[in-house]
Amino acid sequence: MQSETAQRASHRYRNGPTSWSTLDRELQALTATPTLAHAWADSDPWVIVGAGPSSQALLAQLALLAPQRKLIVINGEAFVPYNRAQISSAVAERRPLHTLAARLGERDNVSLTILHGVCATAIDREQRWLHLDNGMALSYDKLILATGSRPMRLPLLQQAHPRVRDFRGLHDLRSMAALRPRHVLVVGGGLLGVEAARASLSFCERVTLIERFAHLLPRQLDAACANCLAEQLTAMGVTILTGRQLASMHCREYEVELELDDHATLTADLVISATGVVAEVELARSAALTIDRGIVVGGNFQTCDEHIPTALRFSGLRAKDLKRFSEQGFQLLLVPPQIGKERRADLLEVRKACVMLIV
Ligand SMILES: Cc1cc2nc3c(=O)[nH]c(=O)nc-3n(C[C@H](O)[C@H](O)[C@H](O)COP(=O)(O)OP(=O)(O)OC[C@H]3O[C@@H](n4cnc5c(N)ncnc54)[C@H](O)[C@@H]3O)c2cc1C
Repeated sequence: MQSETAQRASHRYRNGPTSWSTLDRELQALTATPTLAHAWADSDPWVIVGAGPSSQALLAQLALLAPQRKLIVINGEAFVPYNRAQISSAVAERRPLHTLAARLGERDNVSLTILHGVCATAIDREQRWLHLDNGMALSYDKLILATGSRPMRLPLLQQAHPRVRDFRGLHDLRSMAALRPRHVLVVGGGLLGVEAARASLSFCERVTLIERFAHLLPRQLDAACANCLAEQLTAMGVTILTGRQLASMHCREYEVELELDDHATLTADLVISATGVVAEVELARSAALTIDRGIVVGGNFQTCDEHIPTALRFSGLRAKDLKRFSEQGFQLLLVPPQIGKERRADLLEVRKACVMLIV
């Protein structure tokens, strides 16, 4: 028999104001027209690879500090630039998705061109040309890498299958909408997994969240706080399984079967992998820039090539780091934290992200 909370979730799913077709329509409205190959006439602009939040914040700062500069943004995604960090709350709170769209290019003092649905494939550092996957090549004065990160999956979830998805961008939401899942299983009980579970609840009858540690958000919360969170999520209708790991996965056409390390078996029609991210370094690597866990930059956020700086967002910066950056002349844009509480006040004086600008 269905529990009261599951019945509530199911009722919301059937009768709620938002449906998969609404989501489909809203995603369609955010889809950008792909840029076709054509010759480029601008002379030596600043080219920014990536149109994520770092790039957006950088553009806002450049509009103020270097309004005369010609800027070209290479947006590898098929959507207009949007606020990634707000996807889950927009879905969970049923805010229309157009509220995620970033307001770029609306400042008339900036010469800004955004190439949508186009990826940068290679950098000719000697000639200062950036090659794109639509056949174009752009010459640049500066090339700013704002390529961010991409999801990192557990080895067991690496099999490519339409019913195993990440929760990173609007493209994932679009694939999810196409599948119309009824039971979503989220693997990973960190910030992203909790957000994914909460968002899935808006549309799915059943949501299960699996975390290998003994409690949710093991890096952010102690057991007592995590239990409060788990109680809230359970009351909302999420089934939480902590202290369990995946043992095997079998994908069928219409469902995925997961076996856990305690031999329990779960089936779902969508598995969301939410086990972390890694820096996206492929473009930098192919250009022989120095790579470690990410693109290696010096104290001035310059890569080993003076024409190629980076734009980044940081987590967990300390006040002394901020002071050091501002003493070095960087412009820092602070983005206020949205989730979580400091576990130890001395650990994080500034909780979340900031964006660095290179001028
Ligand atoms: C669901 C969700 C919720 C989140 N919630 C929060 C939150 O509450 N608070 C918070 O601080 N953070 C949150 N985050 C994390 C936050 O979204 C990231 O820190 C932020 O997106 C990083 O911005 P970025 O621009 O550096 O990188 P990204 O957002 O990764 O953007 C990089 C962009 O570059 C593009 N790109 C990469 N390579 C190429 C190429 N070769 N050519 C063209 N384009 C390329 C990518 O397609 C991508 O669009 C959340 C993330 C998710 C997924």
